Amino acid sequence: MPCYCQERLNNPKVAELMKDIPEGFCGLCDICDRPGHTRAHPNLPTSGAWCDEHWKELLARPSITIDSILKTIIIAISFVMIALAIYRLI
Ligand SMILES: [Zn+2]
Ligand SMILES: [Zn+2]
Repeated sequence: MPCYCQERLNNPKVAELMKDIPEGFCGLCDICDRPGHTRAHPNLPTSGAWCDEHWKELLARPSITIDSILKTIIIAISFVMIALAIYRLI
């Protein structure tokens, strides 16, 4: 999985932006603020910075998020409501 370390070495502007980040890293973890790497999210069309620990967690936890669970529940409830409405009409 590519990260911005290479970019940091090659691009002085990126290096300037990352001057507070310890060498060998290219981002600070979005979750715990520890040094990590900036990369594309494995499941979402976004990018962020994660330490190795939280990166592994992201990879281990596939696209099941609270959001997707909530959406499934809302869809299920609306199906029941529609079914009830039809039942009452009959
Ligand atoms: Zn990196
Ligand atoms: Zn972290």
